[in-house]
Amino acid sequence: MTNHSWAVVDEYIANALIPADAVLDATLKASVAAGLPEIQVSPAQGKFLHLLARIAGAKSILEVGTLGGYSTIWLARALPANGRLVTLEADAKHAEVARANFARAGLDKVIDLRLGLALETLPKIEAEKLGPFDLVFIDADKTNNVGYFDWALKLARRGTIIVVDNVVRQGAVVDATSTDAAVRGVRRLYERLSAEKRVSTTALQTVGIKGYDGFVLALVE
Ligand code: SAM
Repeated sequence: MTNHSWAVVDEYIANALIPADAVLDATLKASVAAGLPEIQVSPAQGKFLHLLARIAGAKSILEVGTLGGYSTIWLARALPANGRLVTLEADAKHAEVARANFARAGLDKVIDLRLGLALETLPKIEAEKLGPFDLVFIDADKTNNVGYFDWALKLARRGTIIVVDNVVRQGAVVDATSTDAAVRGVRRLYERLSAEKRVSTTALQTVGIKGYDGFVLALVE
């Protein structure tokens, strides 16, 4: 199969299973109009995250890497009325676009966006006692994946789900000699996960409109 067929099938899946959604469409449109990179999760992946949060009965969610807030909105919509989502973003322009998107989605009271480098914000989240989180979605710079995972564990409880995006990188993850910083960051994460007894973990390869990549799924024991 080619990237083209993956994309066509992904679109078929989205058309069949994911109803048109004016708010999500407007979120993507505003993000593109503002010049943000189109590196958000696909609709099928967004709904996958949403369903995962509902299956887990998540009331508190932490996201690392907001961009324009597309995955954030999918996740926040899984929360009950008293639920909360904290999302971390380093880029001021991305944060500004995301905040407008959250307001349009009617989720600005539910979503707490913190602007700054995530590794500097995470200690503040701990100090503010905002955890433990029921679900953590890690989707920022891949070089710091291990640092984000360690913080996710610190801010977790037994039963917390941790999801990490982009852990296959078109198959480049198997290349031990890669000099690509993102690939190396992902490989360090696998090493960390394989040695970590406090989580039960797998990874799933994904194909679709975003090409060939994958998610790590970890359950805190
Ligand atoms: N989760 C988003 C979605 O699917 O809609 C996509 C997130 S995008 C792949 C990664 C985001 O992480 C970018 O907006 C980038 O600015 C942000 N980022 C990169 N390095 C960061 C850091 N050190 N701290 C916080 N955010 C960071």
